[in-house]
Parts: sequence; structure tokens; C-alpha cells
Amino acid sequence: MTDAVADTEAGHPDRPNHFVRDIIRADVAGGQVNTVVTRFPPEPNGYLHIGHAKSICLNFGMAEEFGGQCNLRMDDTNPTKEEEEYIEAIQRDINWLGFDWGGKTLFASDYFETLYQWAEHLIETGKAYVDDLSPEEMRAYRGTLTEPGKDSPYRTRPVAENLDLFRRMRAGEFADGARVLRAKIDMASGNINMRDPVLYRILNAHHPRTGDTWHIYPTYDFAHGQSDAIEGVSHSLCTLEFADHRPLYNWLIENLPTPSTPVQYEFARLNLTYTVMSKRRLKQLVDDGHVSGWDDPRMPTMSGLRRRGVPPEAIRDFAQRVGVARADSTVEYSFLESCVRERLNKVAPRYMAVLRPLKVVITNYPEGEEEWLEAVNNPEDESAGTRSVPFSRELYIERDDFMEDPPKKFFRLAPGREVRLRYAFFLKCNDVVKDEAGEIVELHCTYDPETRGGNAPDGRKVKATLHWVSAGHAGRAIVRMYDHLFTKEAPDAEGDFLSTINPDSLTVLDDARLEPEAMKAVVGSAVQFERMGYFCADPDSRPDRPVFNLTMTLKDTWKKIQAKGG
Ligand code: ATP
Ligand code: MG
Repeated sequence: MTDAVADTEAGHPDRPNHFVRDIIRADVAGGQVNTVVTRFPPEPNGYLHIGHAKSICLNFGMAEEFGGQCNLRMDDTNPTKEEEEYIEAIQRDINWLGFDWGGKTLFASDYFETLYQWAEHLIETGKAYVDDLSPEEMRAYRGTLTEPGKDSPYRTRPVAENLDLFRRMRAGEFADGARVLRAKIDMASGNINMRDPVLYRILNAHHPRTGDTWHIYPTYDFAHGQSDAIEGVSHSLCTLEFADHRPLYNWLIENLPTPSTPVQYEFARLNLTYTVMSKRRLKQLVDDGHVSGWDDPRMPTMSGLRRRGVPPEAIRDFAQRVGVARADSTVEYSFLESCVRERLNKVAPRYMAVLRPLKVVITNYPEGEEEWLEAVNNPEDESAGTRSVPFSRELYIERDDFMEDPPKKFFRLAPGREVRLRYAFFLKCNDVVKDEAGEIVELHCTYDPETRGGNAPDGRKVKATLHWVSAGHAGRAIVRMYDHLFTKEAPDAEGDFLSTINPDSLTVLDDARLEPEAMKAVVGSAVQFERMGYFCADPDSRPDRPVFNLTMTLKDTWKKIQAKGG
């Protein structure tokens, strides 16, 4: 999963140390860096996903650890794809994750004037030129990985002509794509990023923040490192695909009068099984209606995970345990689930909920009577206390907990068999009542009043304990059961990732029955329905009909994989 490292974060045996921490530690110790400044630079063209969470935890985490600062900077250099909605969602998600960037969100667009001046500086020093080649010609001139490129005929344009054309590009005199500004580096470089990369393109587009001021926009490569330098970023941490851009990053810093000299370091992206992680693909899932929105609980977005009931603490823990490596890898989804379970196990109050109800009539329980039994709210947290659950003549149990003709290994309720009802009594099934179609509609059972609290005075044993609710007291709820959105571990490896969409990723159970206390669950709060899993009350809830999303079942497949040595 991560590089094998014996070294760990102090005091956290399950959190591997990583090379970024080592680098920062050395820079601080050696005095090369006084204040550690990092940044998280999302492009506001979609919602943040759990891959971004890894980057956020690293950038904010390092700043926190070394007493520095982490900037939130919107990389808003591409006005055609960016929206205010995304900017707001990004801020909300980072806050939810538990990080704070000192209140002021920064924008690459705030630096457009400085960037422009620096572009003129490159022109004046003979290190940039205006190119009139068409995009197709530019591609042809660029060469390939094995062949060097060719110089553009415009490469030798005099400085004055370049300046004039660049100023007219700014003034909006030319059509989109008519010209570009390119750095003059080396068309024969082995690194294609160094073959006179484009610094500015003409885009007569309205920008959400700068309006119609600009007709040219800087490329990622020109905006990114220079924004880092303006902000005094000491360690610019980005993902591996930018490693080939580092020479350009450094070239620009060297050739511009920047106020500081940031250094870029690359780490591996987070990939997860059964998940697609690119914003483009996630947007496609939303736009094509495969999910209900960016915050659909099946999405790997932070808003989706939140709605699913994943606590932010679990995501931070996950990010830390996954570590920061220099080589790409894919993390098992079950490892994320394991981190979530570990957290929820400590904090989620327990309730009884019957998701697929089957009625039980206790024929020897007096009609019209009820009693209240004491139930433990959280066995992992004594301070969570206890609550009372009502018991009466008519109950619901889980349909799957009964079989008329059970196979050998089925130990739950069956005709003639006795089981324990959680926090209550032993219950024995005597009769099965069916409708005309032969469907089981209810069970007639008897209970043993001597077994209150769950044990028989005569010492007889039962093999199963079932959850249940009192029919007359239970509330009704809608429960959404979720499974992976994709059927394949690596949807992106399948050609068309959409072809691997799981048709059964959502099952709606609209007749679930909940013990009274569970009906009061606050929207967004996590609960455990005993034996069924962790759930989270959804914003679609109504007081009389709450909606719960399955966060995850209780079975930990990750621990099983580990135990097998997998
Ligand atoms: P995507 O490919 O999902 O569209 P992106 O890299 O284009 O992501 P940005 O908004 O540019 O998205 O990313 C902001 C920051 O988050 C960048 O520093 C990027 O390296 C980092 N990041 C994006 N995806 C991941 C990931 N899967 N794992 C770790 N960091 C990521
Ligand atoms: Mg990007």
C-alpha cells in the first residue's frame, strides 16, 4: 500500500513517516527555510474528492506541524470551466475536514497584473516571443518524445514587435487562439515541457472575478510557480504528473524577478479501488444523471462522503495512514472503510432498526401491555449511557433472520427454534402464517418471561441474538443501501468507465421500522443500527419519515485481508 518504512510519525505507530516531512525538517534545521508555507491550489472546476483530501491533509498538516501557514489558492486561470458554486463548495469542504487558512482565500487571478508584467519582462529579456503558428502547426513543430522539435519561424521576432503584439493581445485586438506567448527555451530539449511552452493564450472570455478585464489568460505553468513565489510558498507540493514540469517551474523562477524562490516536490496521487477520481469523470457522472449530484453518497467527493456519513476525522486518519509516497499506487477501498468503522465504532450511538420487517406476534404476551427495557447506547463509550426501548406483544424482526426451512449453518429463527431478542427475552417460533400466495406474513411465537435481560435461569442456551422493534411504538423510515458505484476494481482500466457502473449501487428500503429514539437522529449525525451497519440521517429526512443512508456495514473486510496476509 505505501512504501515500506520503518520510520513512523512520532507517537503514531500506524502512521508512516514520509519524505516530505524529512525534507521540510531538514530545510528548517539547516536554516534554508524560516517559515514553512504550503498551499492547496484547487482549480474551481468541480467539487473536491478524497484524492484532494490527501493533498489538503498533507499541505495543511505540514504547515501545522512546523508552525507555518497553508494558503488556499483558487487556481482560477481557466474562466470557461470555472464557477462560483465550486469555489463555495471547496471552502465548505476544507472547513469540514477541519482546516483553516486564516480566513482569506487567495486567487491566482489576483496576480494577473503581476504575471502580465513578468511576461513583458521575459519578452524584454529575449526569453519570450509571440507566436502566430496555428495550434496544428505548433503541434507539428513540437516534435515527439524521440524526435526534437523545430523552431517556429516567429521565434526570432524582435523584442519591440513581440511587446507590441503582446500588448495588443492584452487589449483584445485578436481572436481566440490567433496567437500565443511562448517562453524561448529549447525546441530540442528532451523534456517536451521545455520546448518553448505556451505562457499566455488569447481567450475573450468573461472571468468570474476579473470580469471582462482580460483577453489573455496565463497557462497553468506560468501562473502556478509565480503565484507560489508571490505568496512566499516554501514547499510547493504537487502530484507526480507535474514532475516533468519542474524544470520549467525552476526556469521561470530563475528568469523572473520573483520575491521568493519556492521549490516544487511531487508525491503520488491517491487512487482508490472501485472509484474514479478525476473531476472530469465525476462531472460526467453528475451531468449524465448516473448519480443524484456531486454530493450523492456514492460519490468519492468530500460532499458525497459527508452525506454518506463518513466523519472528517476518519478521512484525516485515512490520509495519514496511507502516507505520502513517491510512486503511484492504488489503495483498497476497504482500507478507507476500515478507518471509517474505527472512528464510528467509538462515536456512533446504537439503535435497533428493522430494515425489512417481518411481523412477530407473541401469543403469550398480554394484549395492550408494554414494558420498557434498558439498552446500552454505546458499548465502546460508557459515558453515552443507556436508553429505554419498548417491548410489546407485536414486534418486527428482520425478514432475513427467519427461515422456514433453514440450511445447516443458519442459526437464527426457524419453526420450533428459540433465539434471544437483544436486551429482552428468549423467543420461540411456533407457527408460520402465510397469505394466499404462500408468502410469510407473520410468525406466531411465545416468549419466556423468565429470560428478561437475555439469560435463562435454567442455563439453556440459544445460538442467535436478533434485533427487533415493537410494532406499535416503531417509527417508519426510508433507508438507502449503497454498494460500490462501479463493479470493477479499476473502472478507468476498462476503456469506458461508464460501462462498469453497478446497476445495483442503490437499493431503497421504504418500509424500515425504527425504535422511537432512533427517529430523533439529527440530520448529518452517524448512528449504528445494531447488526446492520452505520447509517447517517440524510437532509431529505422529514420528522415523521427520516431517511438514512448506509455509511457502511459492520463487516470489516480490510482486517480480514490483513489477517490473511494479503
Ligand atoms: P483531477 O485530476 O481530479 O481533476 P486536478 O489535479 O486537476 O484533479 P486540481 O484542482 O488541480 O485538480 O487539484 C488541486 C490539488 O490537489 C493539486 O495540487 C493536485 O495535485 C491535488 N490532487 C488532485 N487529485 C489528487 C489525488 N488523487 N491525490 C492527491 N492529490 C491530488
Ligand atoms: Mg488540475
